[in-house]
Amino acid sequence: MAALGSYLDARSHRGQWLIRIEDLDPPREVPGAADDILHTLEAYGFQWDGQVQYQSRRLTHYQQAMEQLLSAEKAFPCACTRSDIATSSRMGSGGWVYPGTCRNGVGTGSPPRSIRIRTHADPIIFRDRIQGRYSQSLQQDIGDYVIRRADGLFAYQLAVVVDDAWQGVSHVVRGLDLLTSTPRQIHLQRLLDVPTPAYAHLPLVVDAAGRKLSKQWGSRPVTRNNALESLMAAHAVLNQEPPVEKPATLEDFWNWALSHWDVLRIPALDTDPPMPGPHA
Ligand SMILES: [Zn+2]
Repeated sequence: MAALGSYLDARSHRGQWLIRIEDLDPPREVPGAADDILHTLEAYGFQWDGQVQYQSRRLTHYQQAMEQLLSAEKAFPCACTRSDIATSSRMGSGGWVYPGTCRNGVGTGSPPRSIRIRTHADPIIFRDRIQGRYSQSLQQDIGDYVIRRADGLFAYQLAVVVDDAWQGVSHVVRGLDLLTSTPRQIHLQRLLDVPTPAYAHLPLVVDAAGRKLSKQWGSRPVTRNNALESLMAAHAVLNQEPPVEKPATLEDFWNWALSHWDVLRIPALDTDPPMPGPHA
């Protein structure tokens, strides 16, 4: 779904379409998962530009950005444990709001565990191309947030901002589960003095139990036949103009979809934003 939307959006504007593998958490990666995703995309007829980028190979760049933020005092070391935070804070829209305990330094004898970004009360406001105006006060809703976790892994929020800037990404098209983390990324872009891309957050396909289906794309066996059916189904969820007659081949589908892409037809979510996904 997100792949289809971002691909159509990029290609119909004669833009490049880049693939990035978000493998920051090696123990949680299933061996071969990235290759499966790439093979699936290929079988569906997606064509990407340049080399596939792996976040696990970019750690020195995330480290540099973090050091820059620390030396400018935009970020600070935090010694709090999960339970320290849970006992001294309130619940925000996406979990416990960090109470600011270590903003002015950690106490003696408490080793720093994680690195957090300093937030402020002024709302971060942006206009999503599909969802419209979105505003969030990071201090109120999120609190000072982690860019390097206690287990030493860099947070998705930092990696995605560093990579978007490095690759010169001008348009981000992705699933609605990432809408609530966009203000954290915009805040980081401002602190690192890099451009903010245009954002479009697509509806997610969920099954009856509320599970997200798009992530399972890569795990199903793919044949040319169900590739076409899956693309047609995703195209319909994006509320794009249906082909006059059912496409006989993937090429027919892509020709139709690319020449009829209209981001304004995509339904916006009018209800409350969803809770942040696994990247939050
Ligand atoms: Zn702390």
